[in-house]
Amino acid sequence: MSSTFDTYPDTRLLIDNQWVDATGGKTLDVLNPATGAPIGKVAHASIADLDRALAATQRGFETWRATPAHERGNLMRRAATLLRERADGIARLMTQEQGKPLAEARVEVMAGADIIDWFADEGRRVYGRIVPSRNLNAQQLVLKEPVGPVAAFTPWNFPINQIVRKLGAALASGCSFLVKAPEETPASPAALLATFVDAGIPAGVLGLVFGNPAEISAYLIPHAVIRKVTFTGSTPIGKELAALAGRHMKRVTMELGGHAPVIVADDADVALAVKAAGGAKFRNAGQVCISPTRFLVHSSLKDAFAQALVQHAEKLKLGDGLAEGTTLGPLANARRLGAMAKVVDDARKRGATVATGGERVGSSGNFFAPTVLVDVPLDADVFNNEPFGPVAAIRTFETLDEAITEANRLPFGLAGYAFTRSIKNAHQLAQRLELGMLWINQPAAPVAEMPFGGVKDSGYGTEGGPEAMEAYLVTKSVSIMAV
Ligand code: NAD
Repeated sequence: MSSTFDTYPDTRLLIDNQWVDATGGKTLDVLNPATGAPIGKVAHASIADLDRALAATQRGFETWRATPAHERGNLMRRAATLLRERADGIARLMTQEQGKPLAEARVEVMAGADIIDWFADEGRRVYGRIVPSRNLNAQQLVLKEPVGPVAAFTPWNFPINQIVRKLGAALASGCSFLVKAPEETPASPAALLATFVDAGIPAGVLGLVFGNPAEISAYLIPHAVIRKVTFTGSTPIGKELAALAGRHMKRVTMELGGHAPVIVADDADVALAVKAAGGAKFRNAGQVCISPTRFLVHSSLKDAFAQALVQHAEKLKLGDGLAEGTTLGPLANARRLGAMAKVVDDARKRGATVATGGERVGSSGNFFAPTVLVDVPLDADVFNNEPFGPVAAIRTFETLDEAITEANRLPFGLAGYAFTRSIKNAHQLAQRLELGMLWINQPAAPVAEMPFGGVKDSGYGTEGGPEAMEAYLVTKSVSIMAV
């Protein structure tokens, strides 16, 4: 695989450290969401390719588990260094295939390198225990071991970071890692994996496939080689995959959809709330699982907040992510364009006011205007299902209790945000909100050292902090009697 990044490449499969075409040569087109035009192709794996990838990942696991954690960490850090060196080129690939502004794509690549470095260090701190024995001639050990080859399924919204959160913990724990990355955004994931190959990772430790997602998950998850399944994507698909994994007794991590409440209390700093939550809302055109989606604003601040959020939205520069000055790119695929038109239409019909935006922009590319809806009724679709796009929906509340009840109403529990100057409010919110992550008076800061994951229908397991390592480790209890 080339690392010059001058032109958008065709993407191949990575099996046994070789970049290969699919058996039979089948490919899928990759489209640029800013133009709708095809820009390249991605190999579409057959079952024969999956069999070869599985055999390689089993061999890779035997090699990698026998590699000291210290060496694994050194190799991961070399890959992270290459990723930083190639950040500009990889970001360009990502913008062409995914749509996000170039600056956001670059931040994602650099954050990916940071996550890899953090896990490289954390792998050296996987400790077992010595437990005092009841017999002084015996020793009782608790050992932590890698769970085995991992099958990962990652989506198109953060083509690199959705992989590194899984790959970082898996590799640091000593697991091999076979990922079905997104067919719509394949080149930047391939460039990520190429940094590990170039850093000298042994053959088989990493594998990359693309194809028919349902066919691949149905084949990999039950397969005897695979010991752990990790998925990021929508809640309905996550439930299907978790059920399949359950039938085959596979360990699972699920990072699924959210519907993040933003509580703006009566004592909030409105300018800060708009800057932080508005920035987070329109980042990656709202196609973010932790994107703020339900804005719950104290009635006394509604007008000030709504006006400032509208101003924020109207200042964004919508355009091709490669163009200078673009701050909001196109939606990643045409499905999202249809979904946005539908949620806005539904909210309007149910009585919401469209304060700005609300429609597609232009007739080519997946551009949708940044949208603010006010006085959104509770039964509007946008207040019940994750919009996953550049749409902010505002409702008012009178008491904090009311806001907390609304925040907890939905089955989702991923991220949430709150703005308040009161430490009492902050503690109430921290204790009572049913969420995996809460940011108070700040935008999301999903750093590698903090847990990242949800509760309820948003999934289980976490992809940050020391807890992320646990997901890739099994515990062995050993008692040795001296004779
Ligand atoms: P989707 O639900 O079909 O796909 C979501 C992701 O899951 C994609 O990457 C897809 O390739 C993968 N997928 C789908 N079916 C699969 C299967 N049977 N086995 C393995 N992987 C499978 O729909 P979509 O149009 O791509 O996205 C729609 C919704 O998905 C969004 O509205 C959003 O709620 C959710 N989503 C969430 C995230 C996230 O970060 N949590 C990312 C992307 C999409």
